[in-house]
Amino acid sequence: MDDCIFCRIARGEIPSAKVYEDEHVLAFKDINPLAPVHVVVIPKQHVASLNELDALPADTQLALLRACREVARLTGIADSGYRIASNCGADASQSVQHLHIHVLGGGKLSVSMA
Ligand code: AMP
Ligand code: ZN
Repeated sequence: MDDCIFCRIARGEIPSAKVYEDEHVLAFKDINPLAPVHVVVIPKQHVASLNELDALPADTQLALLRACREVARLTGIADSGYRIASNCGADASQSVQHLHIHVLGGGKLSVSMA
């Protein structure tokens, strides 16, 4: 999508602090971190949210989850612990309408999921 900020990051038109990349996905540091480690994992192909997961090829769907695990390993939080989360829609305050998974860790996280 031309004007989607995460598509623009995936195309390299907007700089990002890349943590991991493969043919399917890109992971980069969140610009407004909510934890010592806060990385966003996106599919390079635009879909708006998890509701549209089926529009992605199966290998891309799998790559998203595997990338989260790889981000945890690369940032050194695989053993200390981390959380993945994807905000979907208005009640979750999704602010970027391109599917993304947050990887959060590097310190004790709030137990609240809401
Ligand atoms: P959400 O609120 O779940 O839609 O998450 C969107 C996330 O994208 C927020 O945590 C923002 O801080 C982050 N974000 C927005 N623009 C950028 C950017 N240019 N680079 C990195 N992260 C961004
Ligand atoms: Zn997009």
